[in-house]
Amino acid sequence: MAIKDQPQPPRFRQISNVLLLLSSLFLLANIFLPNLFGEQIPRVPYSLFVHQVQEQDVVRASVGQNEIRYQLKGEGDQPGQVLTTTPIFDLDLPKLLQEKGVEFAATPPSKNGWIGSVLSWVIPPLIFVAIFQFFMNRQGGGPQGALSIGKSKAKVYVEGESAKITFADVAGVEEAKTELVEVVEFLKTPDKYTAIGARIPKGVLLVGPPGTGKTLLAKAVAGEAGVPFFSISGSEFVELFVGVGSARVRDLFEQAKKQAPCIIFIDELDAIGKSRSTGGMYGGNDEREQTLNQLLTEMDGFAAGNTTVIVLAATNRPESLDAALLRPGRFDRQVLVDRPDLSGREAILNIHSQTVKLGPDIDLKAIATRTPGFSGADLANLVNEAALLAARNKRLAVAQEDFLEAFERVVAGLEKKSRVLNEKEKKIVAYHEVGHAMVGAVMTGGGEVAKISIIPRGMAALGYTLQVPTEDRFLLDESELRGQIATLLGGRSAEEVVFGSITTGASNDLQKATDLAERMVTTYGMSKVLGPLAYDRSQQSFLGDGMGNARRAVSAQTAEAIDQEVKEIVETAHQQALDILKANRELLETITQQLLETEVVEGEALHKLLAEVLPLDKAAASV
Ligand code: ADP
Ligand code: MG
Ligand code: ZN
Repeated sequence: MAIKDQPQPPRFRQISNVLLLLSSLFLLANIFLPNLFGEQIPRVPYSLFVHQVQEQDVVRASVGQNEIRYQLKGEGDQPGQVLTTTPIFDLDLPKLLQEKGVEFAATPPSKNGWIGSVLSWVIPPLIFVAIFQFFMNRQGGGPQGALSIGKSKAKVYVEGESAKITFADVAGVEEAKTELVEVVEFLKTPDKYTAIGARIPKGVLLVGPPGTGKTLLAKAVAGEAGVPFFSISGSEFVELFVGVGSARVRDLFEQAKKQAPCIIFIDELDAIGKSRSTGGMYGGNDEREQTLNQLLTEMDGFAAGNTTVIVLAATNRPESLDAALLRPGRFDRQVLVDRPDLSGREAILNIHSQTVKLGPDIDLKAIATRTPGFSGADLANLVNEAALLAARNKRLAVAQEDFLEAFERVVAGLEKKSRVLNEKEKKIVAYHEVGHAMVGAVMTGGGEVAKISIIPRGMAALGYTLQVPTEDRFLLDESELRGQIATLLGGRSAEEVVFGSITTGASNDLQKATDLAERMVTTYGMSKVLGPLAYDRSQQSFLGDGMGNARRAVSAQTAEAIDQEVKEIVETAHQQALDILKANRELLETITQQLLETEVVEGEALHKLLAEVLPLDKAAASV
C-alpha cells in the first residue's frame, strides 16, 4: 500500500509550465542577445555628445527615444567613428543640431516594433502568473495549483503497493479489532446486512489515549478492506484560507462518493470537532465551526442507498467533541482503544521485537509485567531503546539486561554519572531511598520493591526506588492507597529518624502523597467524615489533564472538613512510616551501608534484606 496523490487534470499545469519556459527564454533573450550579436558601439556621456556637436565634430545623428547614434567627422577618406549616447530630455537639441549643421533625423520605428511592444505588454503578466503558479504548486506539495486551493489534501491509499499494514500488526486491543473487522465486513459484503434491513453505520470513532494504536488500526483497516481509503488529518482541514476547511470537506466527500465503497479516515478529529458550546476563546473559531457544520451535513448527506462510505475518525479527547457529531447517524459507534493489559503488552512487544535480534535470555513476559500503563507506542519505543543499548554495548543480540536498562531510562530518565553528590548528600539520599524501600516492603500497595539506586537519574531524581507490579491492577482499596502514601513518605521519614532534620529532596514525594490523599477524599469518597460524595468535578480525560481542578461548590465548613481529612490521612501514613523505620532501625542501617558501598541493591540480595523488615502491627507495638 502506498500513499498516492490524487490524479488531477494535468492540462492546465502543462500549459502554464510551457508559458513559464517561454517567458523565461524571452527575458533572457532580451537581456543577452543585443549584447551578444549587436554591433559593439561605444557609448559616451551626453555631455560629451553636446560638446562634440558644439565643436562641429559631428556629421550626422539619428535621434531615437532611447538612444542617439551619431557619426564623427572622418579624416581624409576615412569615415568617422560611430558613437551612441543616452538622450536626456532636451527640447533645445534640434535647434543646436541645426545651428551646427549636423544632418539629423529621428530613428524610424523598428520593423517588428509592434510585435515587441505587444510582447512587452503580454509577457510580464504571464511571467507573474507562471511564478505564482509555481509557488502554489510547491506549497500544495502536490499537483494542485492556484486554481484548486479548495481541493482536499486527502491521501488515497492504494492497495497492493509497498508494505501493507494488517490487523496482525496490531495487538492488545482485541475488542477494537473485532469491531473494525466488522466494519471491513460491511464494506466487503454490504448485501449481507442490507438484506435483513440493517443500516450500515456511517461513522466509527476510535477513542483512546495517545499512542495506543488508533492511527495504526485505521491503516490496518485500509490494508484489509481492499477498498479505497482516504486519509486526512483534522488539522489539515483548518488551514491557510478562510472557508477552505469546509470546501475541503465537501470535496473529500464528493470524491469518496465517486469511489464508493470506500473509507474516509479523519485523524485527530478534535481539531475540527470541538464542542461549539465550550470552545470559542480564540479567533479562527468561526472557520472551524463552518468546517464542522459541513462535516455534519455531509455525513447526513449520503443516502442510505448504494453508496457505502464509512467515516472512520480518531481522537484522544472525545469529551471535547461536539454532541452533534456523536449522535446516531453520524459517529454512532465509539470504539475504545485502550492501553493494553498484560498479555496485550507481551503481544505488542512480540510484534515489535520481530525485527530485532533477541538473545537467548529474553523474557518478554517479565518486561510486560513491569510495564503496566505503557501504551503501544511506549512499548515500541522500549524495544528500540533496548536495541540501541545493545548496539552501544557492542552486543550481537539484545539481552534482557538491555531491556531492563531501557525500561529504567524510560521511567526514570537517563543515568547521570556526571552529577557528583558529596558524601553527606549521598548518605542522605541513601537513607531516604532505603526508607521508601522498607516502608514499601511492608505496605505492598505499589507492588514489589525490585531495586534501590543512588545513581542520579533524569531531571530531579538523585536516587530512586523501583517498585514493580506483580500484576495489573484496576481497583485499589483504601488500605492499599494508604500504603502507597506511607511508602511515598518513607523517604522523608527515614531522614527524620536518622538525622532529625529534613532536606528539600522530598518535595516531589509530598506532592504525590497529598494528591493521592485528596483524591481519596474528594473523588473516591473514602472519608468517613465526608461520606460517599464526589467533591471533585474534573472530567477524566485520556490525556490525564482533566479540566483543571474543578471542585463542586461546597460550603466553607465542607472545604475545611476536606482539608482536615486530607491532612489526617497524610499524617496517619507518616506516623506509620515512622513506626516502621524506628522499629527496624538496625536494618535501615544495614541496607543503607550496603547501598552506599554498591550504589545499587537489587534482585535476590534486596529481597533477602527486605524480608526481615518487621510488619506494621509488630512495629507499632515495639515503639
Ligand atoms: P495513536 O493512537 O496516537 O494514533 P499510533 O497508532 O500512531 O497511536 O501508534 C504509534 C505507534 O506505536 C505505531 O506506529 C506502532 O508502532 C505502535 N503501536 C501503538 N499501538 C500499538 C498496538 N496496539 N500494537 C502494535 N503497535 C502499536
Ligand atoms: Mg494518531
Ligand atoms: Zn523520595
